[in-house]
Amino acid sequence: MFMSMVAKSSEVPTLEAPMLVTHILGDCPSCKDKDCFGNVSVQNDHVLRGCLRCKHKTTFWLPEIRKKVLYLDQFFFSGAFRGGDTRFVEAADRVKQAAHLQLLVAPYSSIHEDETHQWRGYKDFNNVDLLAFIKEVSRGSEFHPDYAVETTQVTKAWSAFLKGEPAEYVLESDDAIEGALDEWDDYYRIDVGGYYKDVELTRSLKGQAVDGLINLFDQWRVSTQTFEQDVALEMLAGAKNYLDTYIIMVNRIAQGDVNALLDSPIVTQVIEQMLHWLPKDQPLDQRLKRCAEFFKSEHFQQVPNLWISARMYATLKAMVKRGAYANPEEARKRLSGVFEDIKHISLYAPYCNAFFMDQPMADLVRQPGIDLQGRYGVRVFSLNNLAQFFEWIDELEYGMSDDHKSGIEAAYPERSKPIR
Ligand SMILES: [Zn+2]
Repeated sequence: MFMSMVAKSSEVPTLEAPMLVTHILGDCPSCKDKDCFGNVSVQNDHVLRGCLRCKHKTTFWLPEIRKKVLYLDQFFFSGAFRGGDTRFVEAADRVKQAAHLQLLVAPYSSIHEDETHQWRGYKDFNNVDLLAFIKEVSRGSEFHPDYAVETTQVTKAWSAFLKGEPAEYVLESDDAIEGALDEWDDYYRIDVGGYYKDVELTRSLKGQAVDGLINLFDQWRVSTQTFEQDVALEMLAGAKNYLDTYIIMVNRIAQGDVNALLDSPIVTQVIEQMLHWLPKDQPLDQRLKRCAEFFKSEHFQQVPNLWISARMYATLKAMVKRGAYANPEEARKRLSGVFEDIKHISLYAPYCNAFFMDQPMADLVRQPGIDLQGRYGVRVFSLNNLAQFFEWIDELEYGMSDDHKSGIEAAYPERSKPIR
């Protein structure tokens, strides 16, 4: 639709300003002026070309593409950014090149932003900012924020539950990823930013939470609960958290606390949005009862981020029972980012073709209770199988058609490196 507008406008005389030609290709075929004709922009599936001097315009159609989605966790970015670990530096270069070739996107997420701000001194490295580096590798592509993906998944499952549709969750890339995966990159990207969380507070809460988890390990070692019971308890805790936080907020409002809407946890949104699906004239307790029925249903059990995170915690517990993480100091080191890692993986992995995570998490998601790759088809990479990661990128590059290569050269003439 957009392209036909462009094509038509070239036939109609208009008063528009000369075009901003980004990459000069040569002389204008229309006015014959020297070195004034070239690429103006890349728009979804075509390159718009124009002249600096006259109104001549052409459209170069690009072939169809479907980009793979790659998640690089914080561990990868900080490893590549510090520059000390050449494995990450090389991997980041390969990712950037493959992204330039329109073969993949490596979007960043709100969790990357949170973690980057947790890292003391993240701005002190050669005046380059870690977040700027992450955005450079991701070329501005973004995942939806963690709470938005969570809310979307729960409310989609809720809607299927209310309509009597099958319990199996239907994954759609726009649950989690901004922008279409079949569009060619334009020359400019918009940097949306703004960070407002209390960094020191989050950092200290995180430390306390990891300590709290490791303190549980002694109880876990003597626990007689089965894996299935542990999963069920995790799911129950998730549901209880949704209901409890919402009820606390409602009670605060009832008592006249005007701040309740402003400072309640974002997770209250889940119930808030679910309630919109029920008749407004129904009493609140009736509607909450209906929510509680959903929380006991198979639809709720199938919500991907809850399915994965419940099993990751239950699997961690099973590994601890089998003797893993016996040394608390070692455990604290290996699991320092465990909450964020589980959040990253459980929310975003189902939307990814490949996920680069740290070694303890890669061990965890390969366990038969989760089998992340088997269930969601996502390739799991870590430093333990870096060679396979490079092979995966090689395969993408070797698989490019001649049309695709011509498209790259047409769309990005100055930046194009020789294609192998
Ligand atoms: Zn011209």
